[in-house]
Amino acid sequence: MKKYDVIIVGGGMVGSSLGCLLAKAGIHVAVVEAFEPKSFDVDAPHDLRVSAISPFSRSVLSDAGAWQSIEAMRLSPYEQMHVWDGVGNGEIHFDAAEIGEAQLGHIIENRVIQLGLVKALQSYETAELICPAHLKNFTIEEKTVFATLSNGEELSASLIIGADGARSRVRELAKISVNRNDYGQSGLVTVVETEMPHQNTAWQRFISTGPIAFLPLNQNQSSIVWTLPSDKADYMLALDDDAFKIQLEEAIEYKLGKVLSVAQRAAFPLKGSQAESYVRPNIALVGDAAHTIHPLAGLGVNLGFKDAAKLAEILLATSSVSEMGDFSILRQYERARRGDNVITMKAMEAFSSLFANTFSPIQQVRNIGLNWINQNNIIKQVFIKQAMGK
Ligand SMILES: Cc1cc2nc3c(=O)[nH]c(=O)nc-3n(C[C@H](O)[C@H](O)[C@H](O)COP(=O)(O)OP(=O)(O)OC[C@H]3O[C@@H](n4cnc5c(N)ncnc54)[C@H](O)[C@@H]3O)c2cc1C
Repeated sequence: MKKYDVIIVGGGMVGSSLGCLLAKAGIHVAVVEAFEPKSFDVDAPHDLRVSAISPFSRSVLSDAGAWQSIEAMRLSPYEQMHVWDGVGNGEIHFDAAEIGEAQLGHIIENRVIQLGLVKALQSYETAELICPAHLKNFTIEEKTVFATLSNGEELSASLIIGADGARSRVRELAKISVNRNDYGQSGLVTVVETEMPHQNTAWQRFISTGPIAFLPLNQNQSSIVWTLPSDKADYMLALDDDAFKIQLEEAIEYKLGKVLSVAQRAAFPLKGSQAESYVRPNIALVGDAAHTIHPLAGLGVNLGFKDAAKLAEILLATSSVSEMGDFSILRQYERARRGDNVITMKAMEAFSSLFANTFSPIQQVRNIGLNWINQNNIIKQVFIKQAMGK
């Protein structure tokens, strides 16, 4: 039996960031990850899965010790964001310069973020990455967690943290139920090269079937996240490249000219969810294990990094490691994070419904609202700061 202070199940972006924050402070952490992260090759094309990383998340990645190696691999800053309504003339333009910043955030491949974090994790003496292995079971006896892994290893700790994604095994074994809202939509992702430069701008058009975003990568490449009703996403996946390029050009209203090339495509079903509880005695959930949201504003993992930062702060303020599993301590984390996560999820759902509405008076008010925000500097700055995780 190997003894640790904390076991983190899931070495994805959120779990490995939390592992780093704890290990950096001398906490003995085991991070159990099911899959070996794929190595990075600068000549390889961009991965399909990317995240828009806010400045707050960047600061978490810096504190974790991962930012330098992420930067050395590959990332793309974006300085502006242009959002417009598919119907009417409503539009809003955000510029980092308006609030004296160099950029609004960075578009980074998920795999690059995870690799940077895993590298940092392995540099801390008190951290151990157990990979590939997955959690099979755990029990709690007298405030100690006993976990068994697929490779036969047995671990014990004061606290087990589920950072194991939307289908969390930790959450399932803890019998914590989940409130789910199936949006009946899928997020279609791919990478394209366009005729015109993206100008380090994130372009997003709201269409009644769902928003489409062109997120800037290197040179004239953009990462696409296109929300569609699931049957329409299946149709788009089945189109040949030339027909799909035309669909993309029309969807973004030729803002970046012609789509010259398109990579493979994939689609992910979209669901909003909230675990009924984020904590139990000796158990905590973070990131997608605790909540998932609509990707329309690219906030999912940014909320997860906020969870990781807050939980690390609360655990590191305890007077002894044995206290880390106390329910009263873990409740502080849930109280600090649930409100933000729920409000953000509801706000994304409200945006999604508002822009899906085809009733003409609602469309007119929506357009007036967007243009009003665009012309009102104070309100606009509030929106920019919110999007930057401030
Ligand atoms: C189309 C789309 C676009 C998105 N775009 C953005 C964006 O721009 N910005 C943003 O902030 N968010 C975005 N998101 C959301 C974001 O991808 C997720 O919020 C994020 O990946 C969650 O990270 P996580 O570490 O909590 O979970 P995951 O990424 O799911 O990682 C969980 C890890 O746990 C491991 N694991 C699972 N079970 C076990 C087990 N039993 N034992 C051991 N290991 C296990 C898995 O292998 C995995 O590595 C998007 C989502 C979608 C669907």
